[in-house]
Amino acid sequence: MNDLLPEDSVRWQYLESVVREIVQSYGYSEIRVPLLEYTELFQRSIGEVTDIVEKEMYTFQDRNGESLTLRPEATASVVRAGMTNGLLHNQRQKLWTAGPMFRYEKPQKGRYRQFHQFDVEALGYEGPDVDAELIIMSARLWKRLGISRLELQINSLGTPESRQRYRDELIEYFNGVKSQLDEDSIRRLEQNPLRILDSKNPEMRAIVEAAPVMLDYLDEASAEHFRGLRALLDAADVTFTVNPRLVRGLDYYSRTVFEWVTDALGSQGAVCSGGRYDGLVEKLGGRPTPAVGWAMGIERFVALFQACGGDAPSQNADVYVAAVGQGTQERAFALAEELRDTVADIRVEMNLGGGSFKSQMKRADKSNATYALILGEQELAEGRIGIKPLRSDEKQESVALVDLGAALKDRLNQTTE
Ligand code: ATP
Ligand code: MG
Repeated sequence: MNDLLPEDSVRWQYLESVVREIVQSYGYSEIRVPLLEYTELFQRSIGEVTDIVEKEMYTFQDRNGESLTLRPEATASVVRAGMTNGLLHNQRQKLWTAGPMFRYEKPQKGRYRQFHQFDVEALGYEGPDVDAELIIMSARLWKRLGISRLELQINSLGTPESRQRYRDELIEYFNGVKSQLDEDSIRRLEQNPLRILDSKNPEMRAIVEAAPVMLDYLDEASAEHFRGLRALLDAADVTFTVNPRLVRGLDYYSRTVFEWVTDALGSQGAVCSGGRYDGLVEKLGGRPTPAVGWAMGIERFVALFQACGGDAPSQNADVYVAAVGQGTQERAFALAEELRDTVADIRVEMNLGGGSFKSQMKRADKSNATYALILGEQELAEGRIGIKPLRSDEKQESVALVDLGAALKDRLNQTTE
């Protein structure tokens, strides 16, 4: 679990604001859900025989003896919220949410126990148009931020019925190589053989590669759905690879699954992952409701943005106000407030704690502000103020206090052009 320090929060804020702006421009609205839910919600939705439920949940009893869990992901909570608030009654919803998730995993670079996700869910939409829209929306995000080095992988898991036949084939195949399976996989063999395909154990890779693939068992309606998705992605010029081994780590998926993966972040390559979960609402006690969504890991997203050379716009102060001498501080305070009133978006940092001219200039420099505004006793008496450029060799100028707002507007416009 990490602290997010000011030097990094600048980047997070910027990237979060860009994602928000883009998903809202597609008509998605924010929903905020609690960090805690009844444990049962995750057991039923994610599935008992998954890494998350078996090993990764932070679960405890509250004072009332109820078993609660810190959310390991957001989809189950959003669906629960949709049901308990009546949002799914004869209506469709396009929702987003963001925040911390908790998984007791082995911490490594790009894999944390408290991590953050940006999450988008479309409930009540059958697709494949909405599946395509969700993917195209993510592609727009990468493009907007200059993020390359991402590959889109897609697959279809069919319906639970068509998966049944595939499941039988898988069990037969894995039974044939049982002596080479690891402990987890042997345990999953009978209950949930699809999970073996999602194994993170490198020693299982060759066996998984040779396993039968779901695409050969798709029912006709799912095959048609998958063709529809591919056609829409092609038409939108979104390049993808069909990865027939992509299954995703949660049980609720059906039909479309996808993942944006990168080679830029070492072994933690999944940046944004999603899929369709047509059976989940019904499984949680609601009416059958088709749905699809994706979740992006913010830590990996930020890391990839940086790896691609991206940086957030500066949040440094525009001006640092220094006041030296009798009666100057009161006037400087008033002046700073006037600037905040009259110059749109200006960032004003006031010298706090007094100090000599020299020490105030030192702080001004350290603040990374573009200009220092210097108000001394003489300036005060003359109704003027000094504007000293801190990031260039231009020389200091003095302007009448009444003209300060206009003088700064001019100068700041020039530096941001
Ligand atoms: P992985 O294959 O890396 O374990 P996952 O399939 O478990 O990922 P999801 O549950 O689909 O991931 O979560 C969506 C996204 O959240 C992932 O694509 C990834 O970017 C991010 N993510 C998942 N687990 C972590 C973690 N422990 N730390 C940081 N980011 C994570
Ligand atoms: Mg995982």
